[in-house]
Amino acid sequence: MGWGRSLPSRRRSPHVRDMAQSDVHSLDALFGCFADEAKAHAYVRDVRWPDGVHCPRCGHLRCYEIADPNANRLRWKCGSCAKRFTVTTLTPMERSHIPLRKWLFAMRMFAGAKNAISAKELERHLGLSYEAAWFMLHRIREAAIGQVDGKIGGPGHIVEVDEAYQGGKKRGRAGFKFKRGRGAEGKKIVLAMIDRTTRQARTVIVPGISQQQLKAAISQHVHPQSTIVTDTLSSYGFLKKSDYLHMTVDHSSKFTDGIASTNLDESFFSLIKNAIRGTYKSISATHAQRYLDEFTFRWNTSKRTDGERFATAVASGEARRLFYHRPVGAAFAEHPQNDNVLVRPASERKQA
Ligand SMILES: [Zn+2]
Repeated sequence: MGWGRSLPSRRRSPHVRDMAQSDVHSLDALFGCFADEAKAHAYVRDVRWPDGVHCPRCGHLRCYEIADPNANRLRWKCGSCAKRFTVTTLTPMERSHIPLRKWLFAMRMFAGAKNAISAKELERHLGLSYEAAWFMLHRIREAAIGQVDGKIGGPGHIVEVDEAYQGGKKRGRAGFKFKRGRGAEGKKIVLAMIDRTTRQARTVIVPGISQQQLKAAISQHVHPQSTIVTDTLSSYGFLKKSDYLHMTVDHSSKFTDGIASTNLDESFFSLIKNAIRGTYKSISATHAQRYLDEFTFRWNTSKRTDGERFATAVASGEARRLFYHRPVGAAFAEHPQNDNVLVRPASERKQA
């Protein structure tokens, strides 16, 4: 394949531009817009590079559209590194044999699901094997969580911090159940930190609730000078002598004390609880942080429309590109055989 027509990379079809700007609000609109692969490729181009196509590898702005053996696919050659790329290069969809419009449909389902979507549902909707649906969902999840990054809070911000416990074996399987309250041994502890001003959340699984462990998690995710509201757990005592301002609410007597409350954390934990109960039944310990990140992504984007969240998921491939450059086998090496919910796919290499 030689050089094709050198088109101005900013050119877009009016149809796709309208769609990207408005919203793929309903599934009906989604079907219309992604009726064929060419439209799906044009859509991803516009969402990924709203200001004009640039090289995903070196960021160079001068790229030339070249012919592709697959007529539906758009392809460019970078004017600097001379490498070729498509709209899926360095995204979750790269090198996948699943048609792009199925990927987009899966992402739209992911973005529009109130609680969550299971691989089983996706399997039915898209007519894929369970393994392929599972693989897609995990890759989409990985791309979405790239959006949950950076510290929250800052001077004048109130950050609610609270912890919840997950764990418990269910019918002999090592699954996760969600439970509030302290004292349960062997359970995973989820620490939620939510900025009351921006409503942005960060969640992390902490190894314990000692002062050092909580301090490490909070200082990693919350800006100094934030006002932190916690309950009266003594391990939070370090906050009094730190760069943070500290307020407490005594949960044994009341849940709100003036502006001191951790009600946002309560809402967040109930969202997770509903999602697990309604969709996943239980989530595996191995992937717990990944699921938490998914819920955090949902929470952080809850003010956006389904369509906007969808566009965010489509565009978020860039942030996670290192992940996709790992060999396929490496992504699965971390999955244990006894993973109860996410069964290791046998055919991922063929289908995803
Ligand atoms: Zn380049």
